[in-house]
Amino acid sequence: MPTNAEWMARDLKVLWHPCTQMKDHEWLPVVPIKRGKGVWLEDFDGNQYIDAVSSWWVNLFGHCNPRINAALVDQLETLEHVILGGFSHRAVVELSEQLVEITPAGLDRCFYADNGSSAVEVALKMSFHYWQNCGQKKKTRFVTLSNSYHGETLAALAVGDVALYKETYEPLLMDVITVPSPDCYFREEGESWSDYSERQFEKMELALEKHHQEVCAVIVEPLIQCAGNMRMYHPIYLTKLREACDRYGVHLIADEIAVGFGRTGTMFACEQAKITPDFMCLSKGLTGGYLPLSAVMTSTPIYDAFYDDYESMKAFLHSHSFTGNPLGCRAALATLDIFRTDDVINANQQLIDVMKQACAPLADHPHVAEVRQHGMVVAIELVKNKKSREAYPWQERRGLKVYQHALSRGALLRPLGNVVYLMPPYVITPEQIHQLVEIMLEGIHIATRD
Ligand SMILES: *Cc1c(COP(=O)(O)O)cnc(C)c1O
Repeated sequence: MPTNAEWMARDLKVLWHPCTQMKDHEWLPVVPIKRGKGVWLEDFDGNQYIDAVSSWWVNLFGHCNPRINAALVDQLETLEHVILGGFSHRAVVELSEQLVEITPAGLDRCFYADNGSSAVEVALKMSFHYWQNCGQKKKTRFVTLSNSYHGETLAALAVGDVALYKETYEPLLMDVITVPSPDCYFREEGESWSDYSERQFEKMELALEKHHQEVCAVIVEPLIQCAGNMRMYHPIYLTKLREACDRYGVHLIADEIAVGFGRTGTMFACEQAKITPDFMCLSKGLTGGYLPLSAVMTSTPIYDAFYDDYESMKAFLHSHSFTGNPLGCRAALATLDIFRTDDVINANQQLIDVMKQACAPLADHPHVAEVRQHGMVVAIELVKNKKSREAYPWQERRGLKVYQHALSRGALLRPLGNVVYLMPPYVITPEQIHQLVEIMLEGIHIATRD
């Protein structure tokens, strides 16, 4: 069996890896994975790694989960794929019924795409098209939060605000209205999350007051701006935003691609604000992290605005080749089945508490500005100066040192800039969480010692 080095050499001859400066791999090894089981990944040299980032936030119930595997084998022998235009199949019907059932009340329709960015594109186009169909031709713009992330395709990139990914492409992107984020990292000393998020909402209120006539929708990541360094805010912001969107006649798009399916402690983050968005984008954990699939949930009134005679030109003529793929839908059904039978949302509460207690001592580290948590996501912000919160220059790539140390100790941690975080599969054990925190602490020591 070839070794890591042999796979890496072949890899580097022909691959171009995502989100990577390929020159880094002159000194940073690519890790070829032979197999996965539960939280574990194993490479071709026999090293094992706990997947602490759920393979980019997608995996919920471990690698090669026997229940999802069995469902997929069955689906594979029944139907691998079929066109969803004019045709249908059992898995997509059952999945749609279940998604309507478990998402907030009022989300009664399910439109499929095949990855998160595409779902965001669908929601943006649907919102715009809805207003066109209603004769509101002036509504052509979108409101977004600073530090937000909604994917990499051009419209998704345009409504995001992470400079690292966006800046280069700025000349290609549509113009959006960017409002300061409720990100509680910037609250005053002694100020509560709730007070800060509420205070930040005033800026959204002003933007909507000024622009609502030209705005189709506000798009947000509920509770956690994941790609934006795992910055977090209080649900009060969403409650106020829902109310304001109603008042100003503007849609609310909730991008729950990363936070949906239990990540924030509730099945969907919107539940904590007791709101129903006009569009909810789902992907990542939707298939338990098995296959690319995404869904946009929306309401009957929005669906009805597209429902007319063909010649009216009101139909939503959007499609992707693999829309509603049966294998993806079946993986999603198996995933939802695990949520039900194992009472996962309640069971996770114990893991959430373990993560909280295990990470609390990290706050005392001289280069840790904050330890923050929403449910199954805990993030540790490294800074150069704890008192002034002066950040490390990004060029120093401190987080990368944590990544390298973790690999040598059997963990896949992939910090975002200077933010180290845990976002593990829900099958992780309390012991494994403690082990990860220990590795994280060592890594933080190494990354901040000079
Ligand atoms: C990952 C992510 C996306 C993009 O999903 P892809 O499947 O990577 O295109 C969009 N929004 C959020 C909040 C995400 O975390």
